[in-house]
Amino acid sequence: MEAQRVDRLQAIIEELANTKGAKKLALEQTARIIHRLDSFSSECKECNQFFIQLEEHIAQLAGRGDQLTKHDVKEHTQLINHLTSHLKERHNLVPKGYYIGMYMAFGVSFGLLFGMLLFDNIALGLPIGMGIGLAMGSGMDEKVKKEGRVL
Ligand SMILES: [Zn+2]
Repeated sequence: MEAQRVDRLQAIIEELANTKGAKKLALEQTARIIHRLDSFSSECKECNQFFIQLEEHIAQLAGRGDQLTKHDVKEHTQLINHLTSHLKERHNLVPKGYYIGMYMAFGVSFGLLFGMLLFDNIALGLPIGMGIGLAMGSGMDEKVKKEGRVL
């Protein structure tokens, strides 16, 4: 993908960030996806097509100005989710904070069970479970970050 196209897209996104309702568009994530699609586009046909699709979609959003509709946001979210799952499955990338979220959920249920079984007190197990979840999750996220696989 030509660097110019990426730069232009990046500029449009920065402009979009100033519009009303921009928060709903997860623009930081969108920008990261653009760079990933760009870097894979020479070897992956789908990424190449996705880049073009995203380019058209972003131009459309930029044309709305402050008039973003619910439909626009929904369409954007669906597209981003679709691209994220391709990058996850095909290119082994992991969304930011993915493991923290997963291990925290695991830590909470583990903590509740642990507290109940060991102390006969759910509240006592919870912070232990959450602490373990936090430690494991952030360790995994850190590892993925070092490997340059964070989306
Ligand atoms: Zn791809």
